[in-house]
Amino acid sequence: MTNVDPNEIHKFSEIQHDWWNPLGQCAPLHEINPLRLQFIQERVDLQDKKVVDVGCGGGILTESLAKAGALATGIDLSQTALETAHVHSKEHNLHIHYDLISAEDFANNHPGEFDIVTCMELLEHVPDPQSILNACHKLLKPNGKLFLSTINRNMKSYAFAIIGAEWILNLLPRGTHTYAKFIKPSELSQWARQAQLNLKDFQGMTYNPFTKIYKLDKDISVNYLAYGEKPE
Ligand code: SAH
Repeated sequence: MTNVDPNEIHKFSEIQHDWWNPLGQCAPLHEINPLRLQFIQERVDLQDKKVVDVGCGGGILTESLAKAGALATGIDLSQTALETAHVHSKEHNLHIHYDLISAEDFANNHPGEFDIVTCMELLEHVPDPQSILNACHKLLKPNGKLFLSTINRNMKSYAFAIIGAEWILNLLPRGTHTYAKFIKPSELSQWARQAQLNLKDFQGMTYNPFTKIYKLDKDISVNYLAYGEKPE
């Protein structure tokens, strides 16, 4: 059984022509992308590293990884997202390998091949996040590095990420996120530990609705990033 919710794939497949519109439905992804890249580059050198971006969507992060010198692969289960990603990377002369495959199947085919795994804004959309983390562990070389991002679950994240972002500010289409699928850092750490991955540090990405600016922040109560390692 594949660890996928078809409604989620349908939702993201609808974005097809809007992935690369910086003012469209993916505007928040474009806004946080430099912060995600900064978080990654403060912890690893991407040059010539084999990186797989799990749940890559239209390739917003994947392209940044490739531009920073990584040998990048992107996988996703939305065919239209991958088509958009593929065409966009060709148009920008980037060599990225895109594959329509689940994290679990890809890990079975490529165990221990990657220096770095990124998995951003995916875990809160899958039925079984533990299974994705197990796949991330399998994909990594010993001492490989893992970068995750997701949304915390508490009253503030409900107010900001759902009511604020989807209903008041219209930053995201309504129904993008399901509160119950949000993930507390303690849960993420626990799942990572179960997958034999050690999460080392967390950082928040906060949004100021007045300045409309996102920034990296100590506050991990809503959107947050996590960095982890696979033991030697
Ligand atoms: N990681 C990208 C896209 C995030 S949007 C970025 O941050 O820029 C979430 C993506 O997860 C969508 O492209 C959707 O198609 C994908 N997705 C949802 N469920 C999935 C699953 N079970 N396996 C793989 N990809 C999935």
